[in-house]
Amino acid sequence: MHHFVSITWGTFRFLYMEKKKLVFATNNSHKLEEAQAILGDTIEILPLTSIGCTEDIPETADTCEGNALIKARWVKEKYGYDCFADDTGLMVKALDGGPGVMTARYAGDHCSPDDNIRKMLAELEGATDRDAYFVTEVALSLDGKEYIFEGKVDGSIATERHGNGGFGYDPIFVPKETGICFAEMTADQKNAISHRGRAMRKLADFLTSL
Ligand code: IMP
Repeated sequence: MHHFVSITWGTFRFLYMEKKKLVFATNNSHKLEEAQAILGDTIEILPLTSIGCTEDIPETADTCEGNALIKARWVKEKYGYDCFADDTGLMVKALDGGPGVMTARYAGDHCSPDDNIRKMLAELEGATDRDAYFVTEVALSLDGKEYIFEGKVDGSIATERHGNGGFGYDPIFVPKETGICFAEMTADQKNAISHRGRAMRKLADFLTSL
């Protein structure tokens, strides 16, 4: 009598094959941690330092999608690795949808996150409509093809800083779903609803569907 053990392709791949390696084109350790938590079961994430890429990749596009593509292409073309990259914009209604693609350099070319927060709180002083949203564009360069995944979270800008977690604008961004700032949440709570979490889960779903 024959005994057959049946396993699915997904289980076989999980048990017996090496995980796919993808470079994540970022030098931001917070972003690496967030990506590891979301994609760690699906792929092995290589940081830029592990491939010897130490230069600043120029972000010269006028959209977040364009900048994400520049970073992913840079790694593919100069280093030969399949790669994903992200770029995020914060869109504030009272600032006519800005700072958008200028979010990182909002308070000037070499400004700190604290400078950005201080400037935003000052510009929104007295504003009653504080609606804002974050959008992340993730660009993937894989086997000679390019893909884009988008994640968005609606919320508002607080009137003062709250919490110590996260990075960037997290102390003043309040997602609609929670009513507390990203910086007051655990990493898992933030990943579950954040712009980057949503975009990266789309990337993870795509990679597991291959
Ligand atoms: P980039 O994607 O690194 O270019 O991000 C643009 C700007 O948005 C930077 O100032 C970041 O600090 C900020 N930023 C990106 N992601 C987040 C986030 O998850 N929370 C708060 N600020 C963020």
